[in-house]
Amino acid sequence: MGRNIDNKCKQCRRVGEKLFLKGERCFSPKCAMVKRNYAPGFHGPKGRKRLSDFGTQLTEKQKAKKYYGVSEKQFRLTFEKAAKKQGDAGKNFLKLLESRLDNVIFKAGFASSRAQARQLVNHGHFTVNDRKTDIPSFSVKLGQVIKIRKSSQKSPYFRNANEKIAKAERPSWINFNNTEMAAKILHEPKDEDLPQSINVHMIIEYYSK
Ligand code: SF4
Repeated sequence: MGRNIDNKCKQCRRVGEKLFLKGERCFSPKCAMVKRNYAPGFHGPKGRKRLSDFGTQLTEKQKAKKYYGVSEKQFRLTFEKAAKKQGDAGKNFLKLLESRLDNVIFKAGFASSRAQARQLVNHGHFTVNDRKTDIPSFSVKLGQVIKIRKSSQKSPYFRNANEKIAKAERPSWINFNNTEMAAKILHEPKDEDLPQSINVHMIIEYYSK
């Protein structure tokens, strides 16, 4: 995707919610949403503007896109794919976003943010079912196993992060084997595993126009 050079914390301040784009800093008092919870810019401290219905839907779409770090094109393509599937289009959409390899790497604890996960994937540090996979949008399927490539295990990043990875909290749909440092997809994310802060119905309305 095209690199989003907008300051990450400004992206959160613009949509008025934590998007957790900076790893550990997001959980610390240094988070910009703790220190300056208003929109960036000169008029920011005066309060947020009331938005039209369209503006609210657009903001929700932008928020979800930034949350997952996905380009507009990929976001829309994922939406269209979800809409063709049977069942609840909104849930299908979020489940497809959750199953992206970069998101799974983040959720499995290999990285502290989706941006870092994407970079690690791009650099070819992982295998899916023992095959090198360096495409962040790769859709991980049930039963597939993600591992750190042998040649990457001795890299400074993984040597330093080993302990943190082993202790990471994970959702129930990802099983982690500490001995093999391998993450396995047990089942698709349940409703409670989907981001509650995203109003997916507004995104559906936005794309339905
Ligand atoms: Fe957003 Fe994280 Fe920056 Fe807080 S620290 S504003 S959650 S990117």
